[in-house]
Order: sequence, then C-alpha cells, then structure tokens
Amino acid sequence: MCNLTNYHSHSLYCDGRADMETFVRFAISQGFSSYGFSSHAPLPFTTAWTMEWDMMPLYLEEFRRLKEKYTGQIELVIGLEIDYLTDENHPASACFQALPLDYRIGSVHLLPDANGQIIDVDVPADKFKQLVDSSFGGDLNQVIRCYYQNLLRMIELGGFDILGHADKIHYNAEAYRPGLMDEPWYVSLMQDYFTAVAQKGYIVEINTKAYHDLGTFYPNERYFKLLNELGVRVQVNSDSHYPERINSGRADAFQALKQAGFRTVVEWHDGTWQACAIGR
Ligand SMILES: [Zn+2]
Ligand SMILES: [Zn+2]
Repeated sequence: MCNLTNYHSHSLYCDGRADMETFVRFAISQGFSSYGFSSHAPLPFTTAWTMEWDMMPLYLEEFRRLKEKYTGQIELVIGLEIDYLTDENHPASACFQALPLDYRIGSVHLLPDANGQIIDVDVPADKFKQLVDSSFGGDLNQVIRCYYQNLLRMIELGGFDILGHADKIHYNAEAYRPGLMDEPWYVSLMQDYFTAVAQKGYIVEINTKAYHDLGTFYPNERYFKLLNELGVRVQVNSDSHYPERINSGRADAFQALKQAGFRTVVEWHDGTWQACAIGR
C-alpha cells in the first residue's frame, strides 16, 4: 500500500494504550515505511493524559532502542505533541527546544476561563456543552475565539513543524450550535486562520482519529481546497492511541485530499521531511 506513514501517535508514556514497541510491530506488519511517536508533552501540572518530565529520559531511550532494533524494517522518528497553554508554556519554550527530537506537533487542548482556570475543552461533545455553559457562561463564540486566538499565538511563536488537529473544536462547537460552520463570522475566522498557517509554512496534519466514529477529519474536509490553494503542505496522521487504529481513516483522507487537488503529502524519509506523491 502507498503512503503508509504516521507521525501523530501516543503510547503508555502518555495516554496511549500500548507500549511503543507494540505500535512499531503493528506499523511494520501493516507495511508502514516510517512512523513517529508524539507523546503529550509535560505541562506545568499533572494530568491523566500528559507525560511527566521524569519519564522524558526513558521515552528518549526507549525510542533509541527501537530505532536501532528495527533499522531496515521501518524508519522511526521521535517527536512530542506540545500544547500552547500560555506564553510561558508552548512549543517554542526552551525546555522543549532543548530536547533531541526529530519534530514537534503544536496543539491546543486547554483554554482558560474568565477566572484563569484551565479548562480541558478536548472532551466529548456532551461534556463540552456542559463546560461551555458552566465555565464560559454559555458564550460559545467566546470559547471559539479564544481557541483560535491561542492557536494563532502558537503559530506566531513557532517552534513546531506540524499543526495538530487544526480545527478540532469544530465538531463540539457544531454539536453545540448546528450550522455554526456556515456562519459568516466563523467562515472568515477560518479563512484568516488558515492564511496565517500558510504564511508560516507549517505542515497541516489531516487528523483521522475520529473519522470512523464522528465522520470528520481535523481539519474538516471543507477546508481542503482552501489549504491546497494556499499552498499548505499536508500530512495524514491517525493520532492513534491504540495500535490497531494506526491506519484508521487513512484511505478516506487520501481520497478527500486527491479530490481537493492535492498531489503530494509530507512524509519522513532518509532523516528529513519530503514531499511524496499521493498514490505512488
Ligand atoms: Zn491532540
Ligand atoms: Zn494526539
């Protein structure tokens, strides 16, 4: 099969459900040519889903062991999925830049409420609705604006290669208020956002994690044409937390990308990012 790669994946070092080696073995058995790990980077507080700093040496060491062991079978790369939290904690922060990583994914999962309390908005739609009502006074537009403001700030600060699940909030927001994505202010917000992403030259992942369950990619397929027109480089990632899902939604994503006019995706080969033809 073609274009079998994935650079967004989690393991027992954060909230993934198997050890790194099991993911590697699944990737090899499915014919993947390269594979990357991107554990949730440590935050300044403990969560159930992020790695702790004391595990970092083990994470890097285990990766080196696997890279050596599986040389010739698959090209392995090591990264982190790093949150933009505040101007003190983001992908360009010195503590993350100092790590010997091949790449970094920049993502937003958390937002401050009016009192500065950090709220995890990357939750199921019913929980999201409760949070918007209980923590943000029911002001969905404000939550959305804050989400993209933080993403834009992260984009400005840099320090990462791949924009993680670029518009993930859209599913929950659309569930909260159906039709939102067609509202003129949201349409223009997204146009401005992707234009800023394109200007900075980031790789935008087409995140397939929820495709089979929720029927959408992140970013939503409706933006693929715009991304192509803006000259954005894309990459298909499954954001897998389970080894058996490393290939989930991939074929559908490639189909949608081709329909939107994309001819290449970015893959890691021979120690660097390369533009590779779709369907080669
Ligand atoms: Zn994420
Ligand atoms: Zn992830």
